[in-house]
Amino acid sequence: MTSDVILVTGGTGLVGKAIQHIIQTEPPTSRFAKRPGETWIFASSAEADLRNPEQTRKLYEKYKPTHVIHLAALVGGLFKNMKYKLSFLRDNILINDNVLSTSKDTQVAKVISCLSTCVFPDKVSYPLDETKIHAGPPHDSNFGYAHAKRLVDVQNHAYKEEFGCNFTSAIPTNVFGPHDNFDLEDSHVIPGLMHKCYLAKQNNTPFVVSGSGKPLRQFIFSYDLAKLFIWMLRDYDDVEPVILSVGEDEEVSIKQVADAIVKAMDFKGDYTFDTTRADGQFRKPASNKKLLSLIGGFEFTPFEEALDYTVKWFVENYDTART
Ligand code: NDP
Repeated sequence: MTSDVILVTGGTGLVGKAIQHIIQTEPPTSRFAKRPGETWIFASSAEADLRNPEQTRKLYEKYKPTHVIHLAALVGGLFKNMKYKLSFLRDNILINDNVLSTSKDTQVAKVISCLSTCVFPDKVSYPLDETKIHAGPPHDSNFGYAHAKRLVDVQNHAYKEEFGCNFTSAIPTNVFGPHDNFDLEDSHVIPGLMHKCYLAKQNNTPFVVSGSGKPLRQFIFSYDLAKLFIWMLRDYDDVEPVILSVGEDEEVSIKQVADAIVKAMDFKGDYTFDTTRADGQFRKPASNKKLLSLIGGFEFTPFEEALDYTVKWFVENYDTART
C-alpha cells in the first residue's frame, strides 16, 4: 500500500475544489478514485501565502507532501490582467519559485503545475499545441501573467536537467464549474454570463450579452479537468506539458453558451447581443491530440449537462458563491 501525501496548492479555487469533489465521490472501482494509503491536502492562501518562502516551507514541513498539484496563482479576467501586470508577473513568479524550490529541497517525487492556453503567443499558427508556448510574445493584455506562467515550463526543464526532478505542467483551456469566480466585473465568460442572466431574471430586466456571440471557444468542465489532473499524477512522467482540453471539434460559440444558460436558468425575458462591444479573437483552438494519444480513452461530460449542473450549483449557492 502506498503512503502518498498529495498537496494541492490553490485547493480552495475552482479547479482545487473540483479535484476534492472527484477524490471524495468517485467510486472505488474508478481509475480516478482515491487510492488506499493516499492522503489529500487542499491548501488555501490563508494557511500559507505561497509568495512567502518561510510560509511555503512551513506548509511543506506540516504535511510532508510526496506529490504536489500546484494550482495556486493570482488569476483574473481581462480587466484585472490589464490593470495589474506587475502583480500578475511578480506574485506568480514568487508563488511558482517557492513551490518548485521547496519541492526540490524536500524531494517531492512529482510536481504538476498549471499553465493556461492564454499564455500562448499572440501571433501563432492554429491549432495551439504543446510545442508552441514560447514561439513568440504573448498578447499585450496579459503579458505579466503569461510570462510568469511560461517561466514554469522553463523552470521545470532546468530542475530536471540540473537536479533530475520530475516536474511537469498541464495546460487547460477555459475551465468552468462549481466554485468559480462569478464576479460581474472580473470573471471568465461563463460565470459572468450566468451571474448576468441570474440578475436579469431576478430583476425582470433584459439579459444582454456583450459582443456578437459568434466567437468560438473550448470549455472544459472542472470535474473533467480534475480527473485529467489525477491521471497525470499517476501516469504521466515527462517534463513536457500536456494540453488538457476537449477536442477542436467541440468548440462552442458564445451564443451557444448564452442559449444554454438561458435554458438552464429558465429565463423568459428579453435576451439580446450588444454588437457595439468588442468580440475578441474569433477562435483560438487548441489540440488535445497528445492527451488522447496518452490517456487511452476519456469521456468528457457533454457541454450542456455540465453547464446545467453549474447553473444549478450557482443558483443554490448564490449567497456564498464568489460574486
Ligand atoms: P481560482 O481563482 O478559483 O483559485 C485560485 C487559488 O489560488 C485559490 O485556492 C487561492 O487561495 C490560491 N492562491 C492565490 N494566491 C495565493 C497565494 N499567494 N498563496 C497561496 N494560494 C494562493 O483559480 P482556478 O481554480 O480557476 O485556477 C487554478 C489554476 O488553473 C491556476 O493556476 C490558473 O492559472 C489555471 N487556469 C485556470 C483557468 C480558468 O479558466 N479558470 C484556465 C487555465 C488555467 P484562496 O482562495 O484561499 O485565497
